[in-house]
Formats: sequence, structure tokens, C-alpha cells
Amino acid sequence: MASDSTEKRDLHTLTRGELMELLSELGQPKFRAKQVEEWVWEKNARSFDEMTNVPKSLREELAKRVTLGGVEEVARQVSLDGSRKYLLRYPDGVAVECVGMPGGNRLSVCASTQAGCAMGCAFCATGAAGLTRSLTESEIYEQVMHVRDDFNARVTSVVLMGQGEPFMNYDATLAALRRLNSPEGAGIGARHLTVSTCGVIPQIMRFANEPEQFTLAVSLHSAVQRTRNALMPGVRKYSLINLYNAMGEYVNKTGRRPTYEYALIGGVNDTDNELQALCDFCEGTLAHVNLIQLNEVDGSKFRPSTDLRAQDFVRRLASVGVEATVRNSRGSDIDAACGQLKQRALRGR
Ligand code: SF4
Repeated sequence: MASDSTEKRDLHTLTRGELMELLSELGQPKFRAKQVEEWVWEKNARSFDEMTNVPKSLREELAKRVTLGGVEEVARQVSLDGSRKYLLRYPDGVAVECVGMPGGNRLSVCASTQAGCAMGCAFCATGAAGLTRSLTESEIYEQVMHVRDDFNARVTSVVLMGQGEPFMNYDATLAALRRLNSPEGAGIGARHLTVSTCGVIPQIMRFANEPEQFTLAVSLHSAVQRTRNALMPGVRKYSLINLYNAMGEYVNKTGRRPTYEYALIGGVNDTDNELQALCDFCEGTLAHVNLIQLNEVDGSKFRPSTDLRAQDFVRRLASVGVEATVRNSRGSDIDAACGQLKQRALRGR
């Protein structure tokens, strides 16, 4: 293991075998690996000095050879509803957003899987800026731990619905989910870990075959092909009919109920025709529809639907046997869309 600071590796990126090898080079017994891993993953140590059950001499040796990575918080916004939105920067300077949403004795985290995004959804600030890079397993994981430590509370659920398309970064996303699920990581139940995808069909099928009971949300936003193509150009090649069939297979395989995310946009996807298409898409399937009241975003041509219209959607969906809820965006008094905090921070606001 190199001791040159320019080549130091982040402890988060070491496999168990590599960590054992490093510790053995330092003449340490095997049990040290578990101790060090506990500090890295479960306790989210920010410095080697925190590792109080590790001998000081070993801490010093480790500090010479590896880093603890670590995200740096560069901006935050706190909502009146208690939500906190963070802009977190990794050691290479790349920054992403995540959100902590408290409620009762629950704490939900919305985390990012990529810095930026290549999918180009028409209503999304992140999509407009393009993809910077995908995040690693530990970079996704560390967002959740940052929120946990900031609230000083156990995280009860995570949704990977921040910046990026998780299924364009499948391996790191899955590894992060497993780490979040593991008792040696964050210990969050698999059913409380949700991936939100635009509908990348090959990866939906792959996800269906994973052994864990992770949950799946699909951003639908329209069940009319032309409207969906305009709103979500990044998944144009995955047609609605193919998505419908893939979701049928997903449900058959897993027995789990997927959620369809649907941001109601006035005059765009809230017309009678759109509502009928949504009912047709969901009727007779195992599905839950999350209707999201779009926030007003400065400079956006999209406007939210009225509350009355949202209730029409709930009623019509219920009439065809599909449960739907209207989700009020958390933190609506802070920045609405993902990517906004980053833009403001970069402008120095
Ligand atoms: S909504 Fe999600 S998938 Fe679409 S551009 Fe924004 S971050 Fe990417």
C-alpha cells in the first residue's frame, strides 16, 4: 500500500481482502479489520482519531497510508417543514445534492447516484446541466450517513431519487443499497430502500432478479407516448408498451408493488386524455401512483396542476382499482427541483 500522499486510497474503496492485507503488513491481528470497518461504515468516522478502540500507533500508520475520503458540506437549505437539503462535495471537487426529511420518529433520505444526469428530462434542472460523472458505492452511501449524523437520528428509509439515473450506474447503486441494508452498514430494511428509475428496461429486469426486497419506483409522468417522449427524451427508446410488459414481468417475478411517479403539470399531462391513458396503463396491474404536485421553478415553462385536478386523478384512478396519493413536495419553500441548490451555491447565493 503506497504511503505517498498523492497515491493514498480511500479506506471506503478497499475490499475486505485489501484491508486485511494492509493490516497484516502493519503486523496487526485479523480482528482489527472488523474494528476498522465498523468505524468506516457503521460509525462514519471522519478522522482516524475517532477510532478509539484502535491503538494510536495503528491510527497513525493508517493515516500515512490511506484516507477516510469523506464528503464536505458546502451549502445547505433548511425548510420550514424541517427538511434539510445539502450540497455535498467529494474530494475531487464534484458536488451532489441530497435531502433529509424528518417526520415523527422517521427520517427519510433522498440521495443522488450521479453528479448531474444525462437523461435530460424537460422539467429537471439537473437534466439541463448534463452528466458530470457517476458516483461510487461509498459516495452514494456517504450521503445517507451525512444526513444521519446531521440529524443525529437513525435513517428509516432511503430513496435514490436525487440527481442522476440510478440504473445508468447500476453496479455502484446496487452495492450502495446492499451496504445501506447490511447490519454492518446502515442497517436499513430492504423494503425501505427504493430505487427510482426513468424506466431503463434492461436494468428493471436485472433488478427484478436481485435477491433482496428492494423497492422500485418508475417515473412515468405520462402514459401517452408523445408526451412522455417530450418530457423524458432520455428513455424515448424504451416505449410505453415495452415498459408496461417489463413491469408486468417485474411484478410476476418479485410479487412487489411498484410505484409510478407522476408529476402533474398543468395543461401538459393533466388533461382528460392523459388521465384516461394513465388509468389504462395501471388498471388491472399491481401499482401505486404517486401524484407529485410540481413546484414552481424560476424560469421553468411548466406550471403545477390545481389541487382539484390532482383530486380528479386520485378519484379516477380509484375507480379503476388503482391506489393513488398526492405527495406534497417536501421542502417546497426551499429549492424545488434537484440541481437547484447546486446552481445557487455556484452563483454564490
Ligand atoms: S428527473 Fe432524474 S432522470 Fe430526469 S434528468 Fe432529472 S435527475 Fe435525470
